[in-house]
Amino acid sequence: MLTLALSKGRIFEETLPLLAAAGIEVTEDPEKTRKLILATNQPDVRVVLVRATDVPTYVQHGGADLGVAGKDVLIEHAASVDGTSGLYQPLDLQIAKCRMSVATRADFDYEAAVKQGSRIRVATKYTAVARQHFADKGVHVDLIKLYGSMELAPLTGLADAIVDLVSTGSTLKANKLVEVERIMDISSRLVVNQAALKLKRERIRKLIDAFAGAIRP
Ligand code: ATP
Ligand code: MG
Repeated sequence: MLTLALSKGRIFEETLPLLAAAGIEVTEDPEKTRKLILATNQPDVRVVLVRATDVPTYVQHGGADLGVAGKDVLIEHAASVDGTSGLYQPLDLQIAKCRMSVATRADFDYEAAVKQGSRIRVATKYTAVARQHFADKGVHVDLIKLYGSMELAPLTGLADAIVDLVSTGSTLKANKLVEVERIMDISSRLVVNQAALKLKRERIRKLIDAFAGAIRP
């Protein structure tokens, strides 16, 4: 049995064409069932639905053989386990693309704050990425960990800036925030459990090859 961990929503939807290229069809719709284990047309392949941030954990500990997770999630996960997750990442799938950026209120002079070497308060779910980014720039930051609705932080005075994922920019715009710096491009990767890679080598290799042939930039 091959178990693939996916999160509901964009990652599930955007992984479907890759699975199709590998001859795998998920036979249930995650939006219409309460089941967390979904069968496929292949008797030896199943999909487990987990939170996006839990995908690396499932794959690292063998709850799933493979998974699809955003670069954002993978960096934060690696930092939380001191870089020892030991996940094999054979493919950038080029799906769920967005970018990680710094955003502030329009009336906050980010460039000046950075240049003056002032301490800035940054709210984010992505503390590992933010810590590294500002350390590289030599900017002193107080990081405030949030789990969602980051846009609210600069509006309420909780923080001067946020580090968040941006795709179209419409959420920032709706909250009168401006993207002041792009930190990195984000896409989702295939991750594989190390032991599974050895024990189910042939089956996993076939899947990786099929996925690789179906990646569209
Ligand atoms: P939830 O939104 O249910 O709280 P989540 O934010 O962890 O969960 P998704 O919104 O499905 O889950 O995001 C999953 C992954 O997709 C993220 O880790 C990121 O890599 C990517 N992603 C997030 N937001 C966007 C976006 N607006 N456009 C494209 N990709 C995105
Ligand atoms: Mg989300």
